[in-house]
Amino acid sequence: MNDVVTDAPLGTTVLGYPRIGPRRELKRALEDYWAGRAPAEALEAVAADLRAKTWAELAGAGLDSVPGNTFSYYDQVLDAAVTVGAVPDRYRALGLSDLDTYFAMARGNDAIQPLEMTKWFDTNYHYLVPELGPDTTFSVADNKPLREYREALDAGVTTRPVLIGPVTFLLLSKAAQDAPEGFGPLSLLDGLLDTYERLLASLADAGVQWVQLDEPAFCADRNSAELAALTAAYNRLGKLTNRPRILVASYFGTLGPALPVLAGTPVEAIAIDLVAGSVDGVASATALRNKTVVAGVVDGRNIWRTDLNAALARCATLFGTAERVEVSTSCSLLHVPYDVEAETNLDPVVRPWLAFARQKLDEVVLLGRALREGTDGVADELAAATAVVRSRATTSSIRNDQVRARLEALRPEHYRRADYETRAKAQQERLNLPPLATTTIGSFPQTGEIRKARADFRAGRLGPNEYRRLMRAEIERVIRLQESIGLDVLVHGEPERNDMVQYFAELLQGFAATEFGWVQSYGSRCVRPPILFGDVSRPEPMTVEWTSYAQSRSHSPVKGMLTGPTTILAWSFVRDDQPLAVTARQVALALRDEVRDLEAAGIRVVQVDEPALRELLPLREADRKEYLDWAVESFRLSTAGAADSTQVHTHLCYSEFGDVISAIDGLDADVTTIEAARSKMEVLEDLRAVGFGRGVGPGVYDIHSPRVPSADEVVEMLTAAVRAVAARRLWVNPDCGLKTRGYAEVEPALRHIVAAAKKVREQL
Ligand code: GLN
Ligand code: ZN
Repeated sequence: MNDVVTDAPLGTTVLGYPRIGPRRELKRALEDYWAGRAPAEALEAVAADLRAKTWAELAGAGLDSVPGNTFSYYDQVLDAAVTVGAVPDRYRALGLSDLDTYFAMARGNDAIQPLEMTKWFDTNYHYLVPELGPDTTFSVADNKPLREYREALDAGVTTRPVLIGPVTFLLLSKAAQDAPEGFGPLSLLDGLLDTYERLLASLADAGVQWVQLDEPAFCADRNSAELAALTAAYNRLGKLTNRPRILVASYFGTLGPALPVLAGTPVEAIAIDLVAGSVDGVASATALRNKTVVAGVVDGRNIWRTDLNAALARCATLFGTAERVEVSTSCSLLHVPYDVEAETNLDPVVRPWLAFARQKLDEVVLLGRALREGTDGVADELAAATAVVRSRATTSSIRNDQVRARLEALRPEHYRRADYETRAKAQQERLNLPPLATTTIGSFPQTGEIRKARADFRAGRLGPNEYRRLMRAEIERVIRLQESIGLDVLVHGEPERNDMVQYFAELLQGFAATEFGWVQSYGSRCVRPPILFGDVSRPEPMTVEWTSYAQSRSHSPVKGMLTGPTTILAWSFVRDDQPLAVTARQVALALRDEVRDLEAAGIRVVQVDEPALRELLPLREADRKEYLDWAVESFRLSTAGAADSTQVHTHLCYSEFGDVISAIDGLDADVTTIEAARSKMEVLEDLRAVGFGRGVGPGVYDIHSPRVPSADEVVEMLTAAVRAVAARRLWVNPDCGLKTRGYAEVEPALRHIVAAAKKVREQL
């Protein structure tokens, strides 16, 4: 087998590519199809065109090995489930076309709920969770990898089909609802490997040289049974005689103990993330001696041009360890936008520093040439990359000495407020709230008129005065509505915000915005993360105008609404030239000033949202403390300047936070609102377990569903809640912001919540 490998080396490659289209063509085609505006053929034609363009682009850039099967109508994990026939019966029973069955699993329809969706490791991409049970039988039900291989070949491009590896597939799946207690998807490994064997054989028969099996699950902590499954899987697949050569790809961290495991199997190549992970432990892995190591030195998660010399040095440390070293990206390029060339309005200082997917192809190809032929032929390019690194390090436009001096001057007291009891007393005197106080999480439904007003203002079709008038009218309306419903702590409703991070990024110095920098979040949904390139400062107040206007319209307290430092970092492309902790502190200082200004304008309650706190949690336990320390610290820095009598709220979107619960306690917020409606208040047990003694608002209204909860249901939830939390510490609120819902649901739901709170209060 080894001489075959040397005969057909893998060469330079990338682990995957964006698929939504440079102008989000797939998004439009999908949404037209879903809305019934276009037939399936139209969608299929757009998809085929995007695939062909992608192959041409990757081959044209000069990659030696072009990844295939990277297209997806919705999600690559769902694709894998369909490929191996893991379609739950309830979707098959709908009797729909293959395409519509697929979309029913992805997004549900009137008759059926979709599969569960969850975050893809520590990224902001979401995948659909396959459901498996003891009766699941796998088969090569839909050979998409082979079909797309042939399609590419017809277009003149030889590709390397990419599939989710069998063990990661099982580890990402969950037990079907009717599976017996104790059933785990990993028990299906043997049957799944039968199917992977057949898949690999079909690819080999078609002439496929290399296949890529993704096993990112092994960049997280894994137990010995899971590592044993990895051994078993690749020993078995590796020993097949009729198969393509196998590249096992890891990404989002280090393989740790899984590296020697994989190295001991007969696979030909292993891809290693040398951006999120390090070369330590790899360079000494003797078992790699007869393997190809694919060195992921070009960052697939961020948008900075690569320091090519540093990347080459990193590759060089692997010489002597592996039989061959090839250059690649650290992970699929799915997580970055397509092309910097499209960004004609970007800050000219920042633009030359950036590499999106298209530019990263060139970097990979160049590094490959330098490795193979030496650096002489690419000296100019290497020098240009070094100049970029130097320019970023020395330019004055990313430095703000005032901000740096403030960071230097920070002392422990900047992170500390008075003890909670003192604060609680001062707040109660000032706010005089009842037990089981009612509030919302911030946003109210975003109507068509609001969106249009924002778009018109942006495009210059609406002047600032007229825009302000429209926003104020909306705020006034939302205040009146909340008063009529009888909520205790009001919000202004966030009509001026398109997105809770972008809004602040546009008002802070140190951020740049792109025009076409879309990144897929799930399905047809894309986000356009701002680029945090320099020291962060706040030229002027960001929210005071709107919040104080809202406060001027009511005697009830209106909550100021800010996005926390960790969430701002999580949903931006962040500079990589200083520790995240430092960047987070800079953002925190800007927010701290905003809190002060809100207080000065008479605002008595301020909420700092941290819905992404859990998302950035490192995959490995050993890295978590350091992360949580800076995440908690930056939140405290942003809020600890508040007076004792100012009530600080925070909001976190999820309910499964067992692993971050002490960090949540560490935020030291006076009130923490969390998601709880779906889990029927189970989270309260966790909170009780850590002795969480401050205010807490477990959501009683599931805003992810159009369903309006009845007052009786809410009473039931609150009755359970008062058993776990002292009534004076309990808040009553929805799970999350209301911006994605309509008033027809929101208004009755809020009325039921308020009625239920009153009823439970009376029973105290
Ligand atoms: N304040 C934000 C809102 O209500 C919070 C959103 C979130 O947690 N994702 O929209
Ligand atoms: Zn939320």
